[in-house]
Amino acid sequence: MRLSQGYWQTLKETPSDADIVSQQLMMRAGLMYKTGAGLYTYLPMAFKSLKKIEKIIREELDKINCFEIQMPVMTPAELWHETGRWDAMGGQMLKVKDRAEREICFSPTNEETVTDLFRRTVNSYKQLPVCLYQINTKFRDEIRPRFGLMRAREFTMKDGYSFHMDKVSLDKFYDEIYIAYENIFKRLGLEFIIVEADGGAMTGGGAKTHEFQVVADNGEDYVVTVPKTGFAANIEKAMTVRRNIPLTPAGELIKFATPNQKTCEEVCAAHGLPITQSLKSLVMHTVINGKDQFFMVMMLGDDTLNEVKFKNKVNAEYIRPAQHVELEKLGLVKGFMGPTTTAEGFKIIFDEAIDMSSSYIVGANEPDHHLKGFVPSRDTKPKNFRADMRLAKEGDFIGDNQIVLKKGIEVGHIFQLGDKYTKSMKVTVLNDQGKAVTPIMGCYGIGVTRVLASAIEQSNDKDGIIFPASISPYDLYLGYIGKTPETKEVAEGLYSEFKKAGLEVLFDDRQLGPGMMFKDADLIGLPVRVILGERDFVATGEIEIKVRKTGETLKVKKDELLNTVKKKLEELSKWN
Ligand code: ATP
Ligand code: MG
Repeated sequence: MRLSQGYWQTLKETPSDADIVSQQLMMRAGLMYKTGAGLYTYLPMAFKSLKKIEKIIREELDKINCFEIQMPVMTPAELWHETGRWDAMGGQMLKVKDRAEREICFSPTNEETVTDLFRRTVNSYKQLPVCLYQINTKFRDEIRPRFGLMRAREFTMKDGYSFHMDKVSLDKFYDEIYIAYENIFKRLGLEFIIVEADGGAMTGGGAKTHEFQVVADNGEDYVVTVPKTGFAANIEKAMTVRRNIPLTPAGELIKFATPNQKTCEEVCAAHGLPITQSLKSLVMHTVINGKDQFFMVMMLGDDTLNEVKFKNKVNAEYIRPAQHVELEKLGLVKGFMGPTTTAEGFKIIFDEAIDMSSSYIVGANEPDHHLKGFVPSRDTKPKNFRADMRLAKEGDFIGDNQIVLKKGIEVGHIFQLGDKYTKSMKVTVLNDQGKAVTPIMGCYGIGVTRVLASAIEQSNDKDGIIFPASISPYDLYLGYIGKTPETKEVAEGLYSEFKKAGLEVLFDDRQLGPGMMFKDADLIGLPVRVILGERDFVATGEIEIKVRKTGETLKVKKDELLNTVKKKLEELSKWN
């Protein structure tokens, strides 16, 4: 592309509303334009890169016999009613009515749509297994759209869905798609880890699910890793243990005054005690089988509740911390509640990090007082139970190894769904005995636009983007310095030669001057930059090549230029 005739604007200043590096660079380098909150226009440079990302995804999925289709972005309410997700999706799903007052939504995902398609088109085991996928627009009315394409409201997703007669077939395909995803993310030039994820209570026994996480400081997810064993799990799923917590022998249960000391930190600080000698009481409101239920979860003073573990453990459809009025109704005193309460209407769960025969400080269930010497096994009602409820943190162990917490951006997710959708949508196929059975499913997502943002988040420097070669909008940036017609002619000749060789060239023929040209070249960060400098070329016949990623600069004669550039690009493609 010839820049003198192109559509490309770079910005000198970083836009004030861009919060992370990738978003800042994408806006400054003219990749995207913010049309509204969480709504972006992909400009030509980004669009070219996105098409390359999509091509890599298609190639790898087609290899394992997945079929591309395209479902509508707007889908009818009836389908979502069948699975109960019209209501369960909550505010994320943007719903509208058409002119005939029919309810439709902007699809946030497409399990219902594809399951409906499947039940109307497939009826025999002979047609299974099958995997259908699409690459199209999704809409999620995110509460906090942010970080540019990382968490947009409208974005491009690859979503795939497979159907199987049994778990053996699903497991086999799951392994294939797992490897296909590995290949995809390697080819995309991303540094990623594969993480065991939480399947929720729904998936039940043995359902597998993995996330593909790009390691980045600005990631919104925490990943628990054990470098020594290669273990990696999402923090919501990881089971870790604390070690070496000092214990206090059981003593007498004594009430003491703690005026205005409402948190474990406040009580322990005021009485000079280590925080691990106190227990916090968290009261959670849940909906289980459509009914409201409350739980008091006991945790060590400095631990945090892992809400996903809790939700799965109690098998709840919905959870949230209990509100002030609810606590009052239960007869609990906010800031001073504890497990010795005689109030009814809830169960108490003790986190497994608590030593049941050691003694702790807990709320005394009366204003401005706590109890010391509380021993869980001695001083609580028998209907209470223990479970792993805490969020993993730095310093924890898995087995004999200490964990390392990393921050990640989820770019892909694969998931064994079981019969969740096929059952609720009453799908059956005939097996080899002619009997109608419910098939099972898997689903497989990749955030296409998030991949682009993640690649840039992971690969940049102070001057701009460093595009992985495989998804760079162009292979090289070609520019020239000099005003004579001869120099222009040589540059034009190079442009034609590169193009003829099948390379994609961004040809800077704008005559902006070297300073501006170098700045723009670094900002857009194509893998290789070629500059024809008139003075050098006349004196030595040499042309300069610079590799964006390594900064390596070399000068070569004109007839070696093409081969050297190709060699450099090849080396860069082996980057991953
Ligand atoms: P997250 O936990 O980040 O909200 P999710 O678990 O809701 O994501 P999935 O439903 O698994 O996401 O969607 C598949 C993929 O779509 C994700 O792995 C992610 O890459 C991408 N994705 C999800 N939400 C967004 C968004 N708001 N903006 C951009 N990409 C997104
Ligand atoms: Mg996910």
